[in-house]
Amino acid sequence: MLINHERLKNLLIELIQIDSLSRKELNVALRLKGEMEELGATVFIDDAGEKVGGNVGNLIACFPGNRAAVEPLLLSAHMDTVVPGEGIVPILEGNILRTDGRTVLGGDDKSGVAIICEVMRVIKENRLPCGAIDVVFTICEEAGLIGAKCLDVGQLHARTGLVLDSDSVGYLFTKGPAKKRMEFHVYGFEAHAGVCPERGINAIKVAAEGIAKMQLGRIDHETTANIGMIEGGMARNIVPNQVVLHGEARSRSLEKLDRQTEHMKHCLEEAAARHTLELDGKRHTARIEAKIEREYDRMDVPETARIVKLVHAAAKNLNLEMKTDATGGGCDANVLNQKGLVVANLGTGMREIHTVHEWLDLNDLYVSAAMVLEIVKLNAAENHGVKPKE
Ligand SMILES: [Zn+2]
Repeated sequence: MLINHERLKNLLIELIQIDSLSRKELNVALRLKGEMEELGATVFIDDAGEKVGGNVGNLIACFPGNRAAVEPLLLSAHMDTVVPGEGIVPILEGNILRTDGRTVLGGDDKSGVAIICEVMRVIKENRLPCGAIDVVFTICEEAGLIGAKCLDVGQLHARTGLVLDSDSVGYLFTKGPAKKRMEFHVYGFEAHAGVCPERGINAIKVAAEGIAKMQLGRIDHETTANIGMIEGGMARNIVPNQVVLHGEARSRSLEKLDRQTEHMKHCLEEAAARHTLELDGKRHTARIEAKIEREYDRMDVPETARIVKLVHAAAKNLNLEMKTDATGGGCDANVLNQKGLVVANLGTGMREIHTVHEWLDLNDLYVSAAMVLEIVKLNAAENHGVKPKE
């Protein structure tokens, strides 16, 4: 057993206590920069921080390895955490790590970060044969994957690897949806609600009619849609002239994603067309303005990809059951795949993430670290005839 459980646990607990909300990852980045340099990596921080208005960029640590013929691997996790995530007090009961109930734990994704550090420590202290490894600790994953979006993958040696950013250690996520975000502005016509409501078009009513016609929620096994926020109106006694709707749609099929987005827009346009008004010889119609953006692309790593085979082989060596699966969420892997890399998402043990009930079983963390180490060893063995299981 090469993974040092105590050391890994202590690092995780230390990292969790360094506040690192999105755009405020500086302190944790500095801690990790020192760690990576000590382990022999060439480390640099890119300019993503300036681009997204944060206090630090992505941290890229390149380990040269000691086997030139071995294909380089990417290991990545994100440094930022969601709110409420400041002043986290980790509480350890047996092997369960949780919070005091006021904040998230930040195991998402400090568990991934800690695992990568521990694996690199083990490789160094045991002088294990391995190829080049690019470690990338990103910023602002939780803010819409914008750290990864700013990452120049031309700076990396690896073209394949893993993001450690999902819950169950028995799963490798290889497929994930593309996502579009939508902002619909619904315009009506304002009027005094008591004196002359017939001189107005109620934008809230238009929006409501449009939304009522929309298919939302789970559309099919690979498509979801949501209107998550609505704002509008000015006062109780004014017929409202504007409503803004914030929504999203996700699908692993780009065609379905486009169809769903069009459907949502169309429902609102139809509702708007039904609301017209003749006023002083001028015709007014409610109208819709839609801002639709592709937030990220889908993840679609084939079963035959080398990284998937490596993960299955490593699981087999460790007698671990491993399934590849599709997720409904997005992660940095979506962006990295879009940039031409082949990256899947491996679980770390984090649970009930993005809630103050977040917890983590340390045993899962240890298994995940052993998996990553085995993957690195197998990657070296395949290219060099190094016996993988020691
Ligand atoms: Zn995450």
